[in-house]
Amino acid sequence: MTLDFSYQGSASRIVFGRGASARAGEWVEASGCRRALILSTPQQAGDAEALAGRLGALAVGVFSGAVMHTPVEVTEEALVRAKELEADCVVSLGGGSTTGLGKAMAYRTDIVQIVIPTTYAGSEVTPILGQTEGGAKTTLRSPKVLPEVVIYDAELTLGLPVGMSVNSGLNAIAHAAEGLYAVDRNPIATLMAAEGMRALKEALPGIVAQPGNIEAREKALYGAWLCGTVLGQITMALHHKICHVLGGSFNTPHAETHAVMLPHTIGFNAAATPELLQPVADIFGGSAGQALYEFAAAIGAPTSLKDFGLIEADLDRAAEIATANPYPNPRPIDRASIRLLLQEAWEGSRPEM
Ligand code: NAD
Repeated sequence: MTLDFSYQGSASRIVFGRGASARAGEWVEASGCRRALILSTPQQAGDAEALAGRLGALAVGVFSGAVMHTPVEVTEEALVRAKELEADCVVSLGGGSTTGLGKAMAYRTDIVQIVIPTTYAGSEVTPILGQTEGGAKTTLRSPKVLPEVVIYDAELTLGLPVGMSVNSGLNAIAHAAEGLYAVDRNPIATLMAAEGMRALKEALPGIVAQPGNIEAREKALYGAWLCGTVLGQITMALHHKICHVLGGSFNTPHAETHAVMLPHTIGFNAAATPELLQPVADIFGGSAGQALYEFAAAIGAPTSLKDFGLIEADLDRAAEIATANPYPNPRPIDRASIRLLLQEAWEGSRPEM
């Protein structure tokens, strides 16, 4: 094997442990801050208020307007609030949508971010920001958006509904799987990807069987951290590109789209590079795409794009958009093969590899 790579470790401080979010105030102060604005979605406003209560004088307010896809208007509203309150940091409590809002604020102002993730999406450990303006979603990478501190507390994930846990976990596995064959893959990301996938493979069935199982929740969160870290280090390929097209142009739900597409995109690439995807085959047992398909079905994940209201004619346009601009992928991509891949995902059939 030839070793030829470039690697940069993450600058984020990771704090992991049951009950760790109780020490959020210490991390606000350790970051040199005194005036935290707590961010959340409307659905998690109660949790955000409770967190503000625990932070006491260190919390200057709560902004509970975070929504999916980080619309620029919401970011601007939150920035006005932060300025009025003279906030010197944000504490983002929630999933990728809330983290996205904090990142969008940091991109514009460099405000310090402390993130307390409550899903397995992994955004908290990437320097990637996706945002929407006028209905168009764009993605950028900048060191400015990487959060300074991430506090993983499995106790806060006990209430994540089983369906969302499954889809979010498969979203995380997708980050790791693409890290294995990325054009800029590296040995550390590969180690993290395998460990992260193994943790989620063990944890997700335990969560399905018993949503309040703290050991399973903790293992899933550990896997999410590892898989998210991989995403932060590598250039995404076919899987993430297709999910971006489906979410951005057809408004399909984020984590569910990843869950449906994963076996198909990985199976497609496994045909070209089975050796790089061997960790997936080893962990899930079988050929990479088929093994992921069986795993996702066994834990009750959605299996077909049809269920999101897509019609067959949408697949033509999706294939066209997904192949309009070239990007690195281990297996060459053309419109006909991507159209076929989308057809299989739409029908929910078992991948061939
Ligand atoms: P989300 O943040 O949109 O959360 C979905 C819903 O679940 C929200 O209503 C939220 O309040 C609620 N929720 C979250 N945690 C909960 C809990 N523990 N208990 C009960 N309810 C809870 O979902 P997500 O999948 O985490 O994030 C999706 C978004 O993140 C997308 O916009 C996606 O593009 C983005 N994302 C970005 C990156 C990146 O690196 N930039 C990576 C992954 C995802």
